[in-house]
Amino acid sequence: MISRDEVMAALAAVPGPDGRASLPESGAVSGVTIRDGKVFVAIAIDPARAKAMEPMRAGAEAAIRAISGVAGAVVTLTAESARTVAGGPAAHGHQTDAPPRRHGRSSEPLPGVKHIIAVASGKGGVGKSTVACNLAVGLAKLGLAVGVLDADLFGPSMPRLFGIDAKPGLAPDGKKLVPLESCGVKIMSIGFLIEEGAPVIWRGPMVMSALNQLLREVVWGELDVLVVDMPPGTGDTQLTMAQNVPLAGAVIVSTPQDLALIDARRGIAMFAQTKVPLIGVVENMSYFLCPHCGARTDVFSHGGARKEAEKLGVPFLGEVPLDIAIRAHSDDGRPVVASMPESPQANALLEIARRVAETLAVGAPGAKPAPRIRVL
Ligand code: ADP
Repeated sequence: MISRDEVMAALAAVPGPDGRASLPESGAVSGVTIRDGKVFVAIAIDPARAKAMEPMRAGAEAAIRAISGVAGAVVTLTAESARTVAGGPAAHGHQTDAPPRRHGRSSEPLPGVKHIIAVASGKGGVGKSTVACNLAVGLAKLGLAVGVLDADLFGPSMPRLFGIDAKPGLAPDGKKLVPLESCGVKIMSIGFLIEEGAPVIWRGPMVMSALNQLLREVVWGELDVLVVDMPPGTGDTQLTMAQNVPLAGAVIVSTPQDLALIDARRGIAMFAQTKVPLIGVVENMSYFLCPHCGARTDVFSHGGARKEAEKLGVPFLGEVPLDIAIRAHSDDGRPVVASMPESPQANALLEIARRVAETLAVGAPGAKPAPRIRVL
């Protein structure tokens, strides 16, 4: 078992933000979390000095990795108030810190990236990541330059969905990460950096710091669309993330069941609150497609998402069947839009991609921009 004291002892060899006092002495270590041999450390800094602090961050990571028995180390820089920094190490091991609250949205664009869209859901397990992955592949098939940012830090699924078991390389500048590629899509996920299944307890400031690194410390190159797979739900973390990523719009994934729709409503409301335009709603697992005869069965009260979307005045982007091939191919890391391009399943997903592209007006001159809606 690695202890917090061992981590702090290792960090004593790393100069803190002022370059003189060691990290532990500086009081800048705002959180230490240790789980299954993996160490997560947050260092509070003045955000204006974020670039200059990168060697310190990397040095801290190296120092922790050198501790015997450490399976991995992630050190993130966080912007915290002087009061919090002076308050010394925050609670560790639990997600106790509320994410920093901000009003409005971060407007700082991502250079080279034309549109960033979020794929979100009111709750987990509705197929949000599956839709995000296939949507990205679909957009790429339409000829767009596409990236995927797996912002589901709590349960990253893009490595599995794209069948990637590799670590991203470093760009020639030695700082930025090079995204991995599959099905013509550039992908970045915390899952490439942390082993799958490893329980990670993220504290609020760590979430934003990690997200910013995955978003901004990556050589995305020129992209038409960056698809962000959001964590499920509509809690504080999701809200903060939605506020901090310069989003052009959001796609909400829902299943037909009523409960999911109530959750979907929350998702819609969350984006309305952050003033992110709603691109539309996708109904996933909409109807059952028989793998033997191809017949369609409406298992749930099919069409709920479409009706709900109409009621709210939100565009409906399409229905995706509940289908064994979608599940099996997803588990194998072969998104159906790429691996079964002629199938009805792939077509349903491709159609959704087409509608999203039209809404963003990429490759469709004169297409209508996403509506701005208000949900009460
Ligand atoms: P979320 O991101 O909402 O938590 P996932 O995309 O991880 O959901 O999907 C949850 C599970 O449901 C996965 O096993 C996935 O393969 C399966 N799944 C998703 N969409 C479909 C679908 N249309 N048909 C069959 N299985 C699906």
